Amino acid sequence: MRYYAASERFGLWARLTAFKSARNIVRIRTNDRTREDAGLVGAFSTAGLFMTDAMTAAGGDKIRCDACPVMCYIKPGAAGACDRYANHNGELVRVDPHIVLEQTVSHGGRLVPFQAGGDWDGKIVHEPSVFVTAIGAGTTYPDYKPAPFIVSSEVDGVDMVTVVTEGIFSYCGVKVKIDTDRYLGPETATVRAQGEAIGHVTTSEYGSQMLSLGGVHHLTGGSKKEGRVTCDALMDLSNCKPVELTIDGGATVVVQAGYPPIVNGIAEERMRVGCGSATIGMFAKQWHGKVDEVVVVDDHITGVLSEHQAGKLLDIPDTGIKMKGRRSTPGRYFQVADPGTGWGGTNISDPLSVLGPFNPKEARPGLTMLMVSTTGEHAAYYELDEALRPVEKQMPSDLKFSVERIQENCEPALCTVLFMGGAGGSLRAGVTDNPVRLTRSVKDALTRVTSGGAPVYVWPGGGITFMVDVTQMPAGAFGYVPTPALVAPIEFTLRLSDYAALGGHMDHVRPLASLRDNTETRPMPYIPGRRA
Ligand code: SF4
Repeated sequence: MRYYAASERFGLWARLTAFKSARNIVRIRTNDRTREDAGLVGAFSTAGLFMTDAMTAAGGDKIRCDACPVMCYIKPGAAGACDRYANHNGELVRVDPHIVLEQTVSHGGRLVPFQAGGDWDGKIVHEPSVFVTAIGAGTTYPDYKPAPFIVSSEVDGVDMVTVVTEGIFSYCGVKVKIDTDRYLGPETATVRAQGEAIGHVTTSEYGSQMLSLGGVHHLTGGSKKEGRVTCDALMDLSNCKPVELTIDGGATVVVQAGYPPIVNGIAEERMRVGCGSATIGMFAKQWHGKVDEVVVVDDHITGVLSEHQAGKLLDIPDTGIKMKGRRSTPGRYFQVADPGTGWGGTNISDPLSVLGPFNPKEARPGLTMLMVSTTGEHAAYYELDEALRPVEKQMPSDLKFSVERIQENCEPALCTVLFMGGAGGSLRAGVTDNPVRLTRSVKDALTRVTSGGAPVYVWPGGGITFMVDVTQMPAGAFGYVPTPALVAPIEFTLRLSDYAALGGHMDHVRPLASLRDNTETRPMPYIPGRRA
């Protein structure tokens, strides 16, 4: 494919080995390989492919890219600092192809790549099932220029327009959800990549540890290295690549969107079925009559069957059990141990360490007890001896079955990465000459926002602050510029009449069919569960 030839050549032949930024000078040095290459020339000779107006004339053979504030001077045959733009025969070209997706009814309306493989047969536009993404569309900077593509099409008899641009986001980050009970680090602890601070641990959610990474503070407010490393980590996470993170006072975790987290070198298998109390509630009936006592060990809320409301309703007698920690409500205990990577997200390896001595007024020799973690990963069975001390015994098969039932009810542990960016700034000017009208149109649900074709969640309140699940986006959707900032696709789709009403750049609206002359497609492997 032409675009692969192009990008590979720029990647290999014109690899950036150093660049230096001054106010208006960015020096790009490539390796010593000759820039002349007939194949490369041929690759770009197709009319309009990858071309952009993001250039100005510069001295010598160099051209100047003005698609972002870095303003690279780019030698012929070389790529700019971001590897997104290159100088091909004196023309600034966008190295990556512009991605167009095709909706298919057979996939339940899911978006799939416009073309799954092979060369383009020229039949680009199967209106209205084609969706023009911003991936590879290019950036307009500064944003008073109209967005790179403003494309009209007819959908169900209604004239629609989609405005696409690759936004440059200095205000952006990722929210990471890591499905694990294991302790990753204290809340607010610094999260590092390559030793640099790139974010922090934030509040845990049900069965998951949460990280907040990136943001303008780490991108721009620290050292140059901190900004660069933050940008790299955000881009890799957003492009579904693995990134190793270390947490001050906590664990090392490898995070990759859509894959299990690897905590201190061990891949997590399951997220918990619930907290200890919820586990008691779910399985109390299945334990009734098979065991006298059950303790579900959990770093947050440890559950005790005989004291829990579920046990009371089942008339389970008191057992004289004595728990450590702080009793919240009957059968629910906080802080039975410190957090860690042991049983139920605590630091214990011996579950008996959360128990005090049994009360001889209620306990009796032979009393049976199951102790289990919230994932069923850890479990042990005990019987009280004559001195009312728990002695571990072989677990009866029906209790083993109940532990397996807990495991069965645990969902696979995954990492989830949501990219979050603020699109309520200057890029709106590429859509309309009255930016606030775009914001209002989004709030009024007249304009649908997508990122690489994936649906986004737009936060209520001011601005257009959106979040998107990166696994729902085509591969390689994110780029960067060394300001540093992330480059992310964003599309605004609305009725043509509404677009005119909000002051859209109507003289730049082009029909979908016109993309035939400017658009290249990229074959992408379809990964189940992922859009592309
Ligand atoms: S970093 Fe990329 S977008 Fe920015 S000026 Fe350089 S080549 Fe253009």
